[in-house]
Amino acid sequence: MPTHQPRRTPGPRGERFAVLDPATGEAFDEAPDQRPDELDAIVERAHDAWRDWRADPVARTSALFAAADAVEAAGADLAPLLTREQGKPLAESYAEIARAAARLRYFAELDPVPEPIADGRPVGTEIRWRPLGPVAAIVPWNFPLQLASAKFAPALAAGNTMVLKPSPFTPLATRLLGSVLSAALPQDVLTIVTGREPLGARLASHPGIRHVTFTGSIATGRAVAEGAAASLARVTLELGGNDAAILLEDVEVERIADRLFWAAFRNCGQVCMAVKRVYAPARLYSQVVEALAERAKTVVVGPGLDPGSQLGPVSNAPQLARVERCTARALADGARAAAGGHRLEGPGYFFAPTILADVPSASPVVTEEQFGPVLPVLPYGRLDEAVEAANDTGFGLGGSVWGTDLDRAEAVADRLECGTAWINNHAELSLAQPFAGTKDSGVGVAGGPWGLYGNLRPFVVHRPEEA
Ligand code: NAD
Repeated sequence: MPTHQPRRTPGPRGERFAVLDPATGEAFDEAPDQRPDELDAIVERAHDAWRDWRADPVARTSALFAAADAVEAAGADLAPLLTREQGKPLAESYAEIARAAARLRYFAELDPVPEPIADGRPVGTEIRWRPLGPVAAIVPWNFPLQLASAKFAPALAAGNTMVLKPSPFTPLATRLLGSVLSAALPQDVLTIVTGREPLGARLASHPGIRHVTFTGSIATGRAVAEGAAASLARVTLELGGNDAAILLEDVEVERIADRLFWAAFRNCGQVCMAVKRVYAPARLYSQVVEALAERAKTVVVGPGLDPGSQLGPVSNAPQLARVERCTARALADGARAAAGGHRLEGPGYFFAPTILADVPSASPVVTEEQFGPVLPVLPYGRLDEAVEAANDTGFGLGGSVWGTDLDRAEAVADRLECGTAWINNHAELSLAQPFAGTKDSGVGVAGGPWGLYGNLRPFVVHRPEEA
């Protein structure tokens, strides 16, 4: 379980912790270090606010539309702050904000549908959907606003209230988002709390919470599920991934190389569904390695606030240490860095975009989630070997197959053990689709109507045909 936490800085404004700019490695602001015992009053207020919020779906819909407008209107304030604390290029921060607004509108329009049950008995039986109560959301640092909205949009649309905790590495844009949303939402419908552990552990196990929705690492996900078991709250877990991309014999390397590169390196590789391993047919292996290495060597790495930057720094020091560690281990295991392989000199958490060739398949950069700008490329002989290697993992988030014969590619994709499989693409998600990992990558379903129903419970009414 991660133990790294930002530094605490007691001061006149109460206990606070420092927030660092990953482009410099320097603290640039602080956030409140809320204590776990503050949650009792916060959850109680969320419970009180639930009474009115759940009662009026029409008012709810218009509040959520107003919330979407407010998020968009605050884009010019939110985006630079998000880039400052998270590191990503400014355009990607704006994309997160656009996605958050789109998600609010998508769920605002989605109504749960009462379902009659026709089972031949002379009884009218109908399912009506009811909200659960206060929901706790805990999110990581890689997409703070986008993932926060993936939690609050369906939960609030379903008539629940929410207490949401961002990562202590990226608390500021989420706090600002909370205050932006407070202009559109009734008080205490959505509360943002910030603090170091054990704030999240207490939130996950709080007896007043009816659903815990968590995105983050597998280790923390397990701890969250254990905590939620105390109050028997529903748990939704969106966890890590180690997605494989399998290139087929008929792939046109130059045609797909840009898309494949960005599927691995967007957000500096810190994407649950990034391509984290590439399997290339032996005949094309050198060509694939070279095509990816050429892009890794020429991509512009720099502070996210610089308009020319295509890749920012790694988001925080512990993550940089992890990336350095697994790259060094791969090189020690006999891998060759076709591009990068080292940290960049100067301030900030910059790491050279790295393509690793000739990596032993047991090296942690292949078997674990590197979550950074490092991509191992492995050769395969028979296609079955590649499919077997892709599936030989405890992760099961996504996967992709790349080739020209789409029917053949789809037949291979169908064999992947994961929640979402793409052909000639990766990590492209529609708001309307279910999002769920298999194996250790998750529990429960988010996205689309499934995400709405994940925040509702069935309430069944039986009514005889005659009194
Ligand atoms: P993390 O598990 O360290 O932290 C996630 C959140 O949990 C943070 O807010 C953290 O403060 C909080 N937390 C830490 N300890 C806790 C505890 N004991 N109880 C409750 N909460 C606790 O993950 P991270 O390093 O912030 O994020 C990276 C991970 O997130 C990667 O594994 C990545 O794959 C995963 N992720 C998954 C998805 C998905 O949808 N499947 C999306 C994005 C990221």
